[in-house]
Amino acid sequence: VWNNCLEFIKDNIQPQAYKTWFEPIQAVKLTDNALSIQVPSKFFYEWLEEHYVKILKVSLTKELGEKAKLVYIIKMENTYGNKQPFTEKIPSSNRTAMKSQEVDVPLNNKNPELRNPFVIPGIRNVKIESQLNPNYSFENFLEGDSNRLARSAGLAVASKPGGTSFNPLLIFGGVGLGKTHLAHAIGVDIKDKYPEKTVLYISAEKFTQQYIDSVKKNNRNDFIHFYQIIDVLIIDDVQFLSGKTGTQDVFFHIFNHLHQNGKQVILTSDKAPVDMQDIEQRLLSRFKWGLSAELQTPDFETRVSILKNKLYRDGVDMPDDIIDYVAKNIKSNVRELEGAIISLIAQSSFNKKEITIDLARIIVEKFVKNTKREVSIDYIQKVVSDYFQMDIDTLQSKTRKRHIVQARQLAMFFAKKFTKASLASIGSQIGKRDHATVLHACKTVDNLSSTDKQFKKYVEDITKKLSV
Ligand code: ADP
Ligand code: MG
Repeated sequence: VWNNCLEFIKDNIQPQAYKTWFEPIQAVKLTDNALSIQVPSKFFYEWLEEHYVKILKVSLTKELGEKAKLVYIIKMENTYGNKQPFTEKIPSSNRTAMKSQEVDVPLNNKNPELRNPFVIPGIRNVKIESQLNPNYSFENFLEGDSNRLARSAGLAVASKPGGTSFNPLLIFGGVGLGKTHLAHAIGVDIKDKYPEKTVLYISAEKFTQQYIDSVKKNNRNDFIHFYQIIDVLIIDDVQFLSGKTGTQDVFFHIFNHLHQNGKQVILTSDKAPVDMQDIEQRLLSRFKWGLSAELQTPDFETRVSILKNKLYRDGVDMPDDIIDYVAKNIKSNVRELEGAIISLIAQSSFNKKEITIDLARIIVEKFVKNTKREVSIDYIQKVVSDYFQMDIDTLQSKTRKRHIVQARQLAMFFAKKFTKASLASIGSQIGKRDHATVLHACKTVDNLSSTDKQFKKYVEDITKKLSV
């Protein structure tokens, strides 16, 4: 059964990903509809669960039918040689002590009680291997004076990863100027030219979270090992590491290992290395080894070409004077620029209005005013708890009272939907829960909103409140 699953998976994901994440798995036993597989570590299990859930589900359901179940058995030996059972609660209805930990995951469940639903609703990054977004390509990254250096350094790195003096390549600049896009573009291009290379894109926040988890779970070495086998490591928003000495430490080691082995490191940051605070000196000096390239605010011409390219790709026609108007008035942030044009299109098609300068003026004004407020997890908790007339402490409390549990699950659901935070990070911010609890919350909200009218209304009401 497992071999058939593997065949199917192999055909559907990148070879490197297959090699990294599926070859080390051992099928252990098959009873009724439950297949047990052994994975090398908890970290490994979480990675599978976060990135390959869908394909696992599909392949297993094909083999075993709708009732298929997957049981993970996590090898307990850590690299220090002591066999230590996990003490944390990990989602399991079938816990075995000592050497291995089984995680029982139903593939097909309608039961909201199950702590670890296999089908994750509304999660964006299910089947991404390198975590790269193919839309963030070089082709779509319009060139201008503001980004010429960074862009061409990126191209150079992409054609010879690890083989230029731009190692690391650090891209820095303000919010919404294209750091993430360019970082992806380099990765996408490398994957294109060197499909056999392992490329990984990860935000510094997620990296930190993974590291913290690995320490908690005693598999710090697995974590380090995993990062050391990567050929091209892209870490976004490294300023996030400031003050996080443990993560900086581990990153320092990983960085050295990669660098010594001719592997490419690409970093982005909202500040130049000289302006970074609370980052260890030795790490800062590494950052400066390669090239730091700045993304500046694009000039008017570049803004126009970015807009035109976007409209062209979306197949939308728009009069030049409108494009000029938007480009003239939104200057400091490409994300806002795109946002304004998108809402302009949306407004006009929604109200069947023609796109006029007047409409553009209204939207641009509104847009510039509104972009200041980002939806944060704190804000979501506040909106949800206000909605249910409770305070945030109550929302976060350990109580099992149904309406409080539901409010908490809604907060988790919206945090997943409206922020980029990882499951683990959402969990830790909303009442110190683990990532499995957040997963379960998302699933429950999805289920309830399709079966329970009242609940559906909650979701709609809160969505409205969060999107104004
Ligand atoms: P940052 O990471 O610096 O905050 P992003 O990379 O998320 O910014 O960019 C914000 C948006 O602007 C993205 O949708 C990106 O595609 C777009 N963008 C930024 N710079 C360019 C560019 N030069 N050409 C085309 N799109 C761009
Ligand atoms: Mg970014």
